[in-house]
Amino acid sequence: MMGKPRVRFAPSPTGYLHVGNARTALFNWLFARHYEGSFILRIEDTDRERTSKKYEESIIQELKWLGLDWDEGPGKDGPFGPYHQFDRLDIYKTYLEKLIERHQVYPCYCSDEELEAERAQLIALRQTPRYMGKCRNLTHHERMQRENDGRKPAYRFRVKKGIIEFNDLIKGRMSFDSEAIGDFIIVRSNGIPAYNFAVVVDDSHMKISHVIRGEDHLSNTALQMLLYYSLGFEPPRFAHHPLILGWDRSKLSKRHGSVTVKEFREKGILAEAFLNYLSLLGSSLGGGKEVSPFKEIISGFTLERVGKSGAIFDEAKLNWLNGVYIRNYDPGRLMVLLEPYIRKAGYDYESLDNEWFKEVISSITGNLMKLSDIDRFINIYFDSRYEIRPEALKLLNENGSLDIIVRLREAMEASENNDGTMYPEVIKKIKQETGLKGRKLLMPIRAAITGVLVGPELDKVFSLLRKESILMRCDKAIELITKET
Ligand code: GLU
Repeated sequence: MMGKPRVRFAPSPTGYLHVGNARTALFNWLFARHYEGSFILRIEDTDRERTSKKYEESIIQELKWLGLDWDEGPGKDGPFGPYHQFDRLDIYKTYLEKLIERHQVYPCYCSDEELEAERAQLIALRQTPRYMGKCRNLTHHERMQRENDGRKPAYRFRVKKGIIEFNDLIKGRMSFDSEAIGDFIIVRSNGIPAYNFAVVVDDSHMKISHVIRGEDHLSNTALQMLLYYSLGFEPPRFAHHPLILGWDRSKLSKRHGSVTVKEFREKGILAEAFLNYLSLLGSSLGGGKEVSPFKEIISGFTLERVGKSGAIFDEAKLNWLNGVYIRNYDPGRLMVLLEPYIRKAGYDYESLDNEWFKEVISSITGNLMKLSDIDRFINIYFDSRYEIRPEALKLLNENGSLDIIVRLREAMEASENNDGTMYPEVIKKIKQETGLKGRKLLMPIRAAITGVLVGPELDKVFSLLRKESILMRCDKAIELITKET
């Protein structure tokens, strides 16, 4: 590679950060870090009606959460700013004037209604909707007439007939027939530049060497190539990566479930697990491994390894991977991350006995997939939240369960210690008395003591509950079983 690359992520703040866009940001960031180049964040906020500060702040928050830090951009000034497009209107204006002078663009006075009618007509004729050039050859006099009528023109680029070609670093040789494009708007009648124009001016001004973005932008790239040549700019290298798909192989959208980074963060997906998942999704980066240290992902990153076909987003797999990360986290660090979820679930965090609670957490880390699962598993340690769930009651109603729980109660009552060491003794005793072992013996105990069928190891549960609490739970189970029979 010649020189250090400069890449950018250029979100339009019209919504929360979508996982697909987060993946684009990640690929750019990995590319920059792998080749020791620069990663630039540019906010594409020219669509004033759909853009909002709230979304911009949220996108920035998620990028920070993911650790995708930028070298230039909002909050980090650099030599090519400003980094908000809305603050760059003067720059676009200069280039528009150049293109007007060279007759490469012309004013278009068509109203939205006229354009819509033209579009509908072309669709009816089964032709690609495009601008047919009504204002292309207006005389000076005709233009003046429209101006005098108070019409404000948009500016359209004059597309010449021909083939537009470029080499894509992921997709290979791309070729578009300009016939299907039609003269396109580069500046709207309100003076605001259209995306394709602003992006070319900015990518060139900001000395972007590689544009890495989703393949849904391929057709835009054809238009942008025309602008690069007209403006006399050298185009960057392009790399269009395949999109993330839903289970039905259509573009991932809300109807498939959660799609914003915010939703996953709030559910308690860890940033590291999320980055791991997104980096490996559809790529050969992991070399067959599912869990890959981020350093290895950076050092192994190349565009060739990004993969050529769409990858299906599998939330269950992300959750599984997240569980792996949770299990490997140090309990102290995990506690800090869990705190907001524990509070949200209504626990009085301050009054929890720290040492005891750390043990509680370490007993359930094997059960957690997301941080938000915490309540489902810690609730078994709190008498105030103890309840026997229907699936547990069903098991308790099976033959033999009542007998086990009655024996458990007796053995507990007789046991002198209350420090967890009673568990093996108690189990041994019931085993001897009933001749039962394994699941037959332990599942009814689990159902009665935790109220559910899945959870932490029983010896841990016993060691973390007080004797009175276990007795109370036995009573409750016995009462419910007897009531049902
Ligand atoms: N603002 C555009 C988007 O969010 C950027 C596309 C590009 O990377 O050029 O889709």
